[in-house]
Amino acid sequence: MTDRLTMQDPRAQYPQPPFPRQPQPVPGLAADMDPKPDHGETSYKGSGKLTGRKALVTGGDSGIGRAAAIAFAREGADVAIAYLPSEGSDAREVIALIEAEGRTAVALEGDVTDEAWCRELVAKAVSGLGGLDVLVINAGHQQSRPSIDAVTSADFDATMKTNLYAMHWIVQAAVPHLPAGASVVTTASIQAYEPSETLLDYATTKAGIVAYTKALAKQLLKNGIRANVVAPGPFWTALQSSGGQTPDKVVKFGEESAYGRPGQPVEIAPVYVLLASQEGSFINGEVYGVTGGAGIA
Ligand code: NAD
Ligand code: MG
Repeated sequence: MTDRLTMQDPRAQYPQPPFPRQPQPVPGLAADMDPKPDHGETSYKGSGKLTGRKALVTGGDSGIGRAAAIAFAREGADVAIAYLPSEGSDAREVIALIEAEGRTAVALEGDVTDEAWCRELVAKAVSGLGGLDVLVINAGHQQSRPSIDAVTSADFDATMKTNLYAMHWIVQAAVPHLPAGASVVTTASIQAYEPSETLLDYATTKAGIVAYTKALAKQLLKNGIRANVVAPGPFWTALQSSGGQTPDKVVKFGEESAYGRPGQPVEIAPVYVLLASQEGSFINGEVYGVTGGAGIA
């Protein structure tokens, strides 16, 4: 394959649908995806933008979070990743990649719908890394439902807890540890602006993440801490093949994009790096869309 950074037509840079049918149970594994997503394992090259930083990435085992974790380590950061117990095999690959950069890696296995675990995972990240100055809220739950009748209270609860409550619990526990210059990056979605009819609860949480982060940014800047949102469009991750879309839609995933393909996780990692790093010093309370041209307004 052509090197990722060689000038080329971006539409043809990565695999296009149709993809093989590949339903997985929630939360899904990156290792079981076909084709394998590019999280930057061999393709992301760092240049010292985060030397010595201490970063926590929730959902850092796979997908967008894995791409951010790999990029952070390549940029010189020590990285803690949080993930579900069933994702240990994906997580071990990320831990090995962080350690291969000579950086400290911290594995935090647990369920973020549990408030006590959210507070504990922050404490463990702080002790394992020796502090905290980059916090990426990225863990997310998305299940496609054909109509409002099919969204059970248990569904609604799981989506709210994972995407909104856990964000609040983790940020609240982390703030006392963040020094001036630290950065919080949350992960919303194009769904905050263009909600799909099948993602009632999910789209609601993503709009909530945008509002929460903009409010948070105003508070935190008083302590010299920035907070921003990344709003992805369609990315090739296990979130989609484990019920985020129907199995039929996964076969065609990205087809409706002007690119004719989904994004690969490594294609969004540079935005997390920018927002986390001091290069993003004047960027606060913003929403960065990475949608393959769909826009977020
Ligand atoms: P992913 O499945 O690879 O990552 C999501 C991660 O969330 C999982 O790996 C898991 O570790 C974590 N998670 C979910 N429930 C959890 C729980 N109860 N406890 C602990 N961890 C839990 O998929 P992804 O697409 O990389 O998702 C990352 C973020 O990007 C999510 O917030 C998602 O909503 C957002 N996003 C994704 C897309 C896309 O097309 N893939 C588009 C817009 C936004
Ligand atoms: Mg995962």
